[in-house]
Amino acid sequence: MASKKREIQLQTVINSQSLWDEMLLNKGLTVIDVYQAWCGPCKAMQALFRKLKNELNEDEILHFVVYHEIIFVDSDDEDAGEAQNGSADDLYSIAIIKPDAVISKKALEIKENVMRAGFVIEAEEKKVLTEEEVRNFYSHLADQPDFEDFVSFMTSGLSYILVISQGDEEEAHKEEPKPETEPNEPSENQPEVEVKAASVGMKKKRGSLQEYLERQHISQFCDVEENGANVNKFIDIFFPEFKKMKTMKLQRTLALIRPDLCRENQEDVLKAIQDEGFKILMQQQIVLSEEEAKTLCKEYEQDDDFEQIIQNMTSNPSLVLALLGNNGLTRWKQLLGPNYVEDAKRYLPESLCARFAMETSPINPFYGSDSLEAAEREIQYFFPPQNTLAVIKPHVPNEYKEEILKSIDEAGFQVTQMKEILLSQEIAEKIYKNLKGKDFYKDVLKMISGGPSVVMVLTKWNAVIEWRRLMGPTDPEEARLLSPNSLRARFGKNILNNAVHGASNIYQAEDIIEKLFGEPDPENPEENSNL
Ligand code: ADP
Ligand code: MG
Repeated sequence: MASKKREIQLQTVINSQSLWDEMLLNKGLTVIDVYQAWCGPCKAMQALFRKLKNELNEDEILHFVVYHEIIFVDSDDEDAGEAQNGSADDLYSIAIIKPDAVISKKALEIKENVMRAGFVIEAEEKKVLTEEEVRNFYSHLADQPDFEDFVSFMTSGLSYILVISQGDEEEAHKEEPKPETEPNEPSENQPEVEVKAASVGMKKKRGSLQEYLERQHISQFCDVEENGANVNKFIDIFFPEFKKMKTMKLQRTLALIRPDLCRENQEDVLKAIQDEGFKILMQQQIVLSEEEAKTLCKEYEQDDDFEQIIQNMTSNPSLVLALLGNNGLTRWKQLLGPNYVEDAKRYLPESLCARFAMETSPINPFYGSDSLEAAEREIQYFFPPQNTLAVIKPHVPNEYKEEILKSIDEAGFQVTQMKEILLSQEIAEKIYKNLKGKDFYKDVLKMISGGPSVVMVLTKWNAVIEWRRLMGPTDPEEARLLSPNSLRARFGKNILNNAVHGASNIYQAEDIIEKLFGEPDPENPEENSNL
């Protein structure tokens, strides 16, 4: 690339915002070669440029500039380092799809094209821009003659504001769709202010969004800001939560409340955990085995009273929790504080350790996993996933089926297997074998094979019981009284047509799952992993 640079001495290389800004201050005419980095220098034109320059012999009047994409800049170039530190501002562009495109439904087509080209729409807002926002975003056009008309046009209807990123690098080489439409004239009501983003100083993998829109002949409907500092500014204006969302990751962690505190003050502790924004995914009281206690108390191994700690941990129930939260693992560790109450009270009085310290013990009454990998292992160990059989009965209309699937998802079940089938007489008899002899037995068999059912394997810790809880009482009337949010309360017609079926125990579940879906999975989640 250095050789390319040497060939083009006539032209000034612009590869940073400051050089671009400086260039805009040039007097006279500036000829910019934008595509040189892709196509190589245009040799034929260079001779002409040189001739013109010599003839005019006037430095102030004619300038030749080449726009150089940052990735082509030599590594020892100062600006290259600046542009490559990967901060949020050079990862994203802001695009505004203008009111005329939103009205004419072109906005959706533009979004689709952009995504098809491998760009990623990271955030999106549909709003009528305020005058202030328009003046701010288009400040570089403020001195254009029809700018005021343009401002009224831009505030006259809904626009889409998008934060767009470059997506994965491998995706960057996707074939670009041919423009589907002929170049469009700007729509009648759009003033012909020439709107072009100064696409300089941005790290590029697939080429700039602006250039893509131009090649697709849709740039007149969609304005792009790609300059890092400006993108940063507009993300803050239009999407104040965006950066926070991007830096936060949902993480799971295993938490444990040791026996003494568990006995004394469980309610306040659980409230404090929820007040800190954690979601309690699963919880159970359990008396730890010696091995489990030793694993979860490793940090106290060298203490004189280690034996006593283990003795305490194994004689009464602890509360084990799987927690979910933004940066959950690290945040839980921080929140619970130092290993010893004494340190917590001195240095971190707001930590859970200091707040819930027990007179009876010098150690932190809480535990949290040390790493994401440990957290997953410990959660799997204490909350091993279980399979259950769930059936959506034939009488349930499609729109309710969707609602039911949504509730299943929201309740944290994985739908491991699913199909819609007409249950055979043999399977129906197996499912309802406990009802043999009841006066409604025949009705039940007829009901379940009266049309196709959706049969599913649902996977979750304690799935059999949890699914029965979600279904609610057998009789929808009773369900509506006792458990109005349950599925039978919401979607059941009567005791026979009560929307859903669930296995009563793990053996029944396994038996029928095998009949419906074949051999159990070799990686059966029932098998516990070691802690
Ligand atoms: P569940 O489905 O809650 O496990 P049962 O195993 O007792 O309840 O009954 C199986 C199915 O038989 C019920 O879901 C319902 O469709 C039907 N059923 C139960 N009791 C009656 C009844 N009294 N009259 C008609 N159908 C019934
Ligand atoms: Mg039953």
